[in-house]
Amino acid sequence: VEIQKLSDDVIDQIAAGEVVDRPAHMVKELLENSLDAGATDIEVAISEGGRQVEITDNGKGVAPEDLALVFDRHATSKITVSNDLWNLHSFGFRGEALATISSVSEMTFASRRQGQNQGYQLQSVYGKLGSQSPVSMAEGSKVTIQGLFENTPARKKFLKSDSAENTQIKNVLKAVAMSHPKVSFKVKINGKLTFLWESADDFKSRVEMVLDQHKLYSASHDYEGIHVEAVFSDPGTTARVSRQMWFFVQDRWVQDRTLQAAVMEAYRSLLMHGEYPYCAIRILAPPDQVDVNIHPTKSQVKFLKTKDAFRSVHYCLRDSLEKAPWLEGVVPAARPKAYFESPAIEPENTSFKESTFQNVQYQKKSFEPRSGPSFSGGLEVMKEEAATRADLSTPVSVMDSGAASSPMTSPTMTSEATAAGGPWSRLQVIGQVDLTYIVTQSENQMVLIDQHAAHERVAFERLMRDWKAGKMETQGFLLPLTVDFEEAEMEGLLEHLPEIEKMGISLEQAGPTTMSIGEVPAMIKETGVVRALKKLAADCLDKGGSFALETAIGDIFATMACHSVVRAGQSLSVPEMEQLLKDMDEFPLSGFCPHGRSVSVEKDFVQLEKDFGRRA
Ligand code: ADP
Ligand code: MG
Repeated sequence: VEIQKLSDDVIDQIAAGEVVDRPAHMVKELLENSLDAGATDIEVAISEGGRQVEITDNGKGVAPEDLALVFDRHATSKITVSNDLWNLHSFGFRGEALATISSVSEMTFASRRQGQNQGYQLQSVYGKLGSQSPVSMAEGSKVTIQGLFENTPARKKFLKSDSAENTQIKNVLKAVAMSHPKVSFKVKINGKLTFLWESADDFKSRVEMVLDQHKLYSASHDYEGIHVEAVFSDPGTTARVSRQMWFFVQDRWVQDRTLQAAVMEAYRSLLMHGEYPYCAIRILAPPDQVDVNIHPTKSQVKFLKTKDAFRSVHYCLRDSLEKAPWLEGVVPAARPKAYFESPAIEPENTSFKESTFQNVQYQKKSFEPRSGPSFSGGLEVMKEEAATRADLSTPVSVMDSGAASSPMTSPTMTSEATAAGGPWSRLQVIGQVDLTYIVTQSENQMVLIDQHAAHERVAFERLMRDWKAGKMETQGFLLPLTVDFEEAEMEGLLEHLPEIEKMGISLEQAGPTTMSIGEVPAMIKETGVVRALKKLAADCLDKGGSFALETAIGDIFATMACHSVVRAGQSLSVPEMEQLLKDMDEFPLSGFCPHGRSVSVEKDFVQLEKDFGRRA
């Protein structure tokens, strides 16, 4: 006979290549066993790049009479009848992880069943079982693995450097920890305490711990039976790699391009090229809609309705990003009344520090709206005011300034009147520096605003809004504008005339390679339109027939907006600046320009005080 059945040893070693091809996968299997056993406290010690691992849990443990079965292939406590397969509540069910790991390592499994007062351990040396012996230990289980792959040199050769394997293991630990917030983890790598994640109240707090990002936001959304919980960073807090985007389906870590695309799409126009958010997305789908058990080591997922999964994640994030929750931090949501009230300064409280500081904050009258360019005289005005402040550095000056004592009639009322409007218009405009940045203050911060980026965002959002509502406000040219294109560009444009029309641009062929532009969106300048059309034509060329105009609209509007708004180096009057802030309040996303650049930079007064040595 030439055909022979493989021995169990060989079968196990083959399986080892599939089930635990890398130490990180082994760690994942062991952690999942602990979780399946109901552990709430897991300790992990790793060395030699994961060829030596010890995992201790406080789960329910294994009864002494079952201990040997732990090492048996296809022995599991998790399913009994085939029906269970479709109604799984555990991670494991194949009963092969420990069998295969024990065939390629020295593995000791020690366990003290909950409620028993004696623990037992059993060792397997590359598949050869020893004899069971009592051991003193706490309730729960402890699995020790040494010399992984020493009996399979070919396999061992495939391992990467210890630090590369450690990185993978850390990723597995992070993922398991994020998907099990209540379980506490203590992780030592090469004897050094690396992670200590105490039990957390909820998903968000655990994600903040694990990603080491302490200002994340959360949202949840239900769509077609799919429940999504998202924890995410503001668009100003980004990573240079996409690895900080984590996805969990049915509390299993998965990697999935569709889900990643849904997140990036939600952040569209909020991030710069090469920037990725920090986020963790937890998706719970009806069990019959999703298959996460495609392969034991691959963290892939298959949705029955991929589109629904995409939509639910995209909507959940986009909806909350549009509310811009991080703005709450930039400017207090409701301006405290005290901002416009005069502080009661006692006459004896006349120390330089106190009075001067108060004056600076409440010297609003000096910042009355001025018309005319703020630049040329700007610095002079500031100097003058500094001088005035010095003169007024007596306690009465604040009361005398009028603005403070009778806020109802003071010029600052203009800003207070719009206080209900939103965070931006609540800022008090002080002036402009470098013909580029608007200087403002809130109650507790100095806020600098990039005038071009801010205006660009407003113009962009208005275009998007009007376009979505199908009511672009357009304006015709006195004389139609004619633009020359390349032959191929012309073709692309002609093909998309109806869509371009919807963007508020009316185009007509005026010659073989000439277009005449009749109307454009009202708020847009010619230069913006010409550039946008050139870009559009180029895109049509690059992407050909499959060119999806819908997704390009944002880019095109961004180009139009960019070339139509105030530029850096343009002087603005105070009313103009105030109007811009009001406009920004129309759109919560205005904190970022359409290219994802930050629109504002804040400096806390507290920080200023520190910088000036006024406080420690
Ligand atoms: P599976 O998890 O697919 O059942 P494993 O080979 O991973 O297969 O584990 C075999 C069995 O060993 C499990 O079904 C479980 O009964 C037991 N077991 C493994 N690890 C633990 C643990 N940490 N605590 C309690 N029981 C465990
Ligand atoms: Mg298992």
